[in-house]
Amino acid sequence: MFCYDQAQDSLIEFISDTKNPSSISGRQINEIYEDKKKRLWFATNNGLNRYDRSTKNFIHFTQKNGLPGNNILGILEDDQGYLWLNTSKGISKFSAEGGSASGGDTETNHFKNYDVSYGLELTADAWYGVGCKTRNGEMYFGGAKGFTRFHPDSIKDNPFIPPIVITSFRKFDKSYPFSSKINLPYDENFLSFEFAALSYISPERNQYAYKMEGLDKDWVYPGTRRYASYPNLDPGEYVFRVKGSNNDEVWNEAGTSISIIISPPWWKTTWVYILYSILILSIIYITWKMQVKRIRLSHEYEMSKFETEKLHEVDELKSRFFANISHEFRTPLTLILGPVKQIIEIIKDEKIKNDLKVVHKNANRLLGLVNQLLDISKLESGNMKLQTVPQNIIPLLKALTLSFTSYAERKRITLKFNSSEDEIIAYIDKDKIEKIVTNVLSNAFKFTPEGGRIEVTLTRSLPSSVSQSHSELVSESKIDMKKLKQSASGGQLDKHGFVEISIHDTGIGIPQEKLPKIFDRFYQVDGSHTREQEGTGIGLSLTKELIELHRGKIEVESEEGKGTCFTISIPLGYIATPNNERGS
Ligand code: ADP
Repeated sequence: MFCYDQAQDSLIEFISDTKNPSSISGRQINEIYEDKKKRLWFATNNGLNRYDRSTKNFIHFTQKNGLPGNNILGILEDDQGYLWLNTSKGISKFSAEGGSASGGDTETNHFKNYDVSYGLELTADAWYGVGCKTRNGEMYFGGAKGFTRFHPDSIKDNPFIPPIVITSFRKFDKSYPFSSKINLPYDENFLSFEFAALSYISPERNQYAYKMEGLDKDWVYPGTRRYASYPNLDPGEYVFRVKGSNNDEVWNEAGTSISIIISPPWWKTTWVYILYSILILSIIYITWKMQVKRIRLSHEYEMSKFETEKLHEVDELKSRFFANISHEFRTPLTLILGPVKQIIEIIKDEKIKNDLKVVHKNANRLLGLVNQLLDISKLESGNMKLQTVPQNIIPLLKALTLSFTSYAERKRITLKFNSSEDEIIAYIDKDKIEKIVTNVLSNAFKFTPEGGRIEVTLTRSLPSSVSQSHSELVSESKIDMKKLKQSASGGQLDKHGFVEISIHDTGIGIPQEKLPKIFDRFYQVDGSHTREQEGTGIGLSLTKELIELHRGKIEVESEEGKGTCFTISIPLGYIATPNNERGS
């Protein structure tokens, strides 16, 4: 296309260039039209163009702007100022920007299209430029099969606002009856709807818009499509709205709607969420509690460990103190005892002699106590050594018992020594056995009132395997148990049997509940009679430990008011312990 400038006598060429959006849009120009407002319009094979004289640019209108087709064949202007465009796909009425004076059309740059459905002759093969307007305003457009004649004023929009209805509701592509409110479970969430605008003039031109409130932000404009689908709707509350227009785009803005409630599965309901929260909270609470308890326990454990360590330290200190002080006491005591004994022998005055005897007796007693203390600290530190020698225990204990005879006579107590045999050889530490028996025997004297009776009895108890009767041997479980006990207590020691020393008195007895405690150190049965008797509560504990050093044991039976019997058993075989130094 060229423009001839008469004044300059020059030609300007206009070429379509796809890269330049302000060039003319089509290569083939079918008609050039200047409207009443002196605007130039170009009908091209690729849309309508308007020429802007000031910028020398072309403005394009194509199918995108609403034209029925891009091949524009002719342009006519009616009396209102609307442009009527003859296209290969029908006739289009165009209200241009700043268009008609009396048109009253508020919408500008708008195309309204008419096709065969309006009774038009199809102009697909219409001839270029064939079209004219008569003096009374009638328009003629030519085509291959005839021509179309109409008066623009006679073409009126359909003013009918169509009612909008939803015609079907589907779940998973199956139709279901429905009302204005639908409740669905969480797993029936594939929904589709069909709807219609009830306008019957050219109903295929009815347009629609829909929106799922709760999901879509904006209206969806599907054009003339009459259905909408929503796959996989999450549980929740929705409102499905549709609005529609008639063939002339007269909209029913109110439209219609269905509210849809998709309920959550049971494990997502509020109650279950509350339950979850309670569960999680209680788990947190329990772990917290357990943690606190754990920390407290470990703290307590640390404390008690610390306390026992301290106690142990104090204990050791105490023992060392006892040991040291006992030593310090012993030397001066022996130095008192020696001279006192000598003076007693020399002195003639009976009065002083008796006084000195009391001194000697008490100093001796003091020495005994100090020796006991020393023994205890030795036992504690593991320095107490056993020096066993095989010897006959009968004469040893007989002599020891008889040494109490004069004391027994003074207290008017019958003292007896019994033994079934004349000789029982045992590996014993003489000194310690004497201490053991003396302790128990003195207790018996202490707690037996005048007229009582004290008996020391020695018996040999055979090794358990020999003493068992045949039937006992056969009963398997018993043997096993005994053997187990033997091996636990002394291994092969008892194969030589034991000597049992029982010291029986008819004294005040010991209350049953106190019996387990009497071997505890510093323990004394609390009673008026006991208190009368002097004592420290060391004797029996020392005795027990000395017996245990011999791998023996001490047992007690007692009845209050009737008497007490201590039974000491000492194994007869050699006692192999780290503390045992075999004597000569
Ligand atoms: P103590 O130096 O007080 O005699 P022991 O350890 O020798 O200490 O004895 C502990 C306690 O056992 C005694 O205080 C006494 O109450 C009780 N006891 C020991 N032997 C007898 C006995 N033969 N009869 C009654 N009570 C006894």
